[in-house]
Amino acid sequence: MEYELTTEELAFLRSQGLGPDDVFDARWMSQARWFREIKEAGKTVALGNPCRKAGHRLRSRKGHCVQCDTKILAFAGRYDLKQYLYVAGSLSARLIKIGVCKDLLQRIRQICAERHGDARDWEVIYAVEIDRAGEIEDRILSRLGRYAIDSHYWKNGFLQQSIELRRCSISHAMEAMTAEIDGKECYLAINWRDKSAYEFK
Ligand SMILES: [Zn+2]
Repeated sequence: MEYELTTEELAFLRSQGLGPDDVFDARWMSQARWFREIKEAGKTVALGNPCRKAGHRLRSRKGHCVQCDTKILAFAGRYDLKQYLYVAGSLSARLIKIGVCKDLLQRIRQICAERHGDARDWEVIYAVEIDRAGEIEDRILSRLGRYAIDSHYWKNGFLQQSIELRRCSISHAMEAMTAEIDGKECYLAINWRDKSAYEFK
């Protein structure tokens, strides 16, 4: 699927916490057929006919252009998904990253390969599987808003800005995480006993 998508479309998906695996190729199907099959395939977005307004090709499960109105996707897609919400750290960059993904191992390889914060030594220090992970991630990031940094990384040959990096201690990140997931049902996937190396100042 990745090769069917333009760099702009891939960047858009990434900005929504999605990737090529979340896309269903609906280009050669009748609407009635792909409305049914996209659900069976468990995909969030359809690659369909260009929208009237701007020629975008990414559609919601109901056929709306998700690039013209990203709110559609926020509600229809990632906000509802049960995903991993994680806190990662890099000792070399002295940075903390908050993120959401479906596959933890694959995501670690990806953030190292893309050199977020110019680092290749990212480790997931804490992760939970939880409903509406994307929405919770947004709230944690805003709690840690004052630690935001301006950083860029390379993706598909394009320089992208990372909005998920924070220059803060692991304790601050964990405080924000705990405050947001407290009382919610979740499955603890990773929790390093000793996080002291990541107490950045
Ligand atoms: Zn559009």
